[in-house]
Formats: sequence, C-alpha cells, structure tokens
Amino acid sequence: MDPISYERAADVNGALRSAQEPGSMYIGGGTNLLDLMKGGVSRPMRLIDITRIGGSLDTVATLPDGGLRIGALVRNTDAANHALVRERYPLLTQAFLAGASPQLRNMATVGGNLMQRTRCQYFYDTAFAQCNKRLPGSGCAALEGLNRTHAILGASPQCIAVNPSDMSVALAALDAVVRVRGPSGERTVPIGEFHRLPGDRPDIDTTLQMGELILAVDLPPPLFSDHAHYLKVRDRASYAFALVSVAAALQMDGNTVKDARIALGGVAHKPWRSHAAEQVLNGHPLTAANLRTAASAAVADARAQRDNAFKIELAQRAIVRAVNQAAGRAGGVA
Ligand code: SF4
Repeated sequence: MDPISYERAADVNGALRSAQEPGSMYIGGGTNLLDLMKGGVSRPMRLIDITRIGGSLDTVATLPDGGLRIGALVRNTDAANHALVRERYPLLTQAFLAGASPQLRNMATVGGNLMQRTRCQYFYDTAFAQCNKRLPGSGCAALEGLNRTHAILGASPQCIAVNPSDMSVALAALDAVVRVRGPSGERTVPIGEFHRLPGDRPDIDTTLQMGELILAVDLPPPLFSDHAHYLKVRDRASYAFALVSVAAALQMDGNTVKDARIALGGVAHKPWRSHAAEQVLNGHPLTAANLRTAASAAVADARAQRDNAFKIELAQRAIVRAVNQAAGRAGGVA
C-alpha cells in the first residue's frame, strides 16, 4: 500500500500552495476519486481536502447580468434544489436529478462532477493491461472488447470512452463558464473548452492546468427556462449512466425556433454540443420534418464500434423526443 498524506485546506490560496507538491490531488465529495483510489487507478501521494474552504465556493449567488454563480463545493443535491436554479435553469435541475443516486448527489460537488472520469470498464479494471487513459501507450482494450456504451462521436484510435456527467451536458447547452484559479491567477474557461476529446492524449480529460482549482460555474442570464428538457436514456430507471442523453433548450416565437440548444451525453469523450442540429432548427418552424433533419445532422459524423451502432439511431430519437418535450409537445409535432 502506498502512503498518502492528507491535509485540510483553510482557504483557496492554501489549497493552491499545497497543490504545488508533486502527486497532489484535491478532494471534494470524493465520490469518484475514492473509487479510483480503491481500485488502484488513481494513486495520489497527497490529498488536499477542499471541503472546508467555504465562502463563495459553497454558495449560489446571482450575477449582475442576471446569471447565476454556483460555487464549486455546492453539493449536487443543493444545486439541483436551489430555488433560483429550479426556477431559472430547470434544465440543470433535471440533469442533476438524473445523475447517480440521492446518496451520491448529497456528497458530490459541482466541481467534482465536472472532474469525474469515464466509466469505461477497462479503465477501472487494472487486470486489463490495455488502457491508454490509465496507462498511456498501452493500447485500448475497448476497441476489440465490449464497447456497447462507448463513443460514436469525436473518438480517436487511442480511446473511445465517454464522459459520464449529466450536469455537464446541461451546462454545455446553457453555455456555462467555469471559473478556475491557479498559481498564475484566475481565468475563465467556456464549458465547451473545459473537457477534451481524446486525440492522442486520452489520459488528459480536461484543459485544467497543473494545480488549478475550480472555483465556480457561471450561468448566463436565463433565456431558456420556459422550454427546456433533459432526457436520459439508460439501461435502468435510476443509478445508471446514460447510453444517450439530450439537453434540449429552446427560445420560441410562436411556432418558430428563435434559438435552439442541443447537447448530447453518453456519445463522446466530452459533452457534445450539436451546433449542426441547432442551425437546422434556428429561424424555422418547429415541424416534425425539421426536427428529423436536425437529429440527422447531429449524428452525421457518427462512427459506431462493433456493439454500439444502436446509439446512432437512439441519439436521433432522443433528440426528437427531448426537443418536443422542451417545446411542451409531449405528443410530438406535426
Ligand atoms: Fe481505456 Fe479509453 Fe480504451 Fe476505455 S476506451 S480502454 S478508457 S483507452
């Protein structure tokens, strides 16, 4: 067993200082990191507990532009049920509540949700020698193995894993911004640039720099509260990761779509915002034909593995259903 040192950070600057030590990792709710450590997938030498920092990291606050700032340490349950999140960003509440179990949501933090790692079974099982994400350069067992749950978009020959977060899919649709601070100061990262595609470095999940700490997620002013729906398709009714999920949000002018937001989960190494589908819908009446064309555009570049071709059809059907639900047309459009 490897020795691990533990310390509790009193404030952000203390956490950043501690993180300069090689082998350091921040720990919040620990709902993913502890599993990774128990399985020998992650081997930090020093854990920096950030859960007692408090202050703005632990609160939800309105922004001057009418948006909302959710601190990185706000628990998923608290974020989902916050009155302003429920009222102004129902898409985000739905996505939070679709994730994990009540017990896990009570522990997991918003920052930790952004950082959770893929659930690819070969990544978690160290008995498999091939996993480029766990052991760079070792190969990818999923390519020739069981890949029913893996990516259909944005994959690479080095990794076909998917990002497991529901919250991040809603954030992608809402154009959220992640605030981070590191040794050289504070910066903002648009959610679409926070998670990476695997390319030839699937071991790197995000664009965070060494030692950077997530402070908060900023949501733009709420323009989609009237027409939003998060649809998660999974093998069980609860406590299961998405085969495909869709975050759909609309601004409508009568029957015409003023602005559509469509993001997919369970299909790629990062939450997959489909601008192609949105462009088909924007400025046009929401008809069944337009919706089918949009759904088709979303998967135009999809590539299936041996076991997951069903996801290409499933993603299209899920988009159609989610957009219809967002528009308040549970029975579909003509
Ligand atoms: Fe590892 Fe990615 Fe291949 Fe899974 S898909 S075995 S995480 S390299």
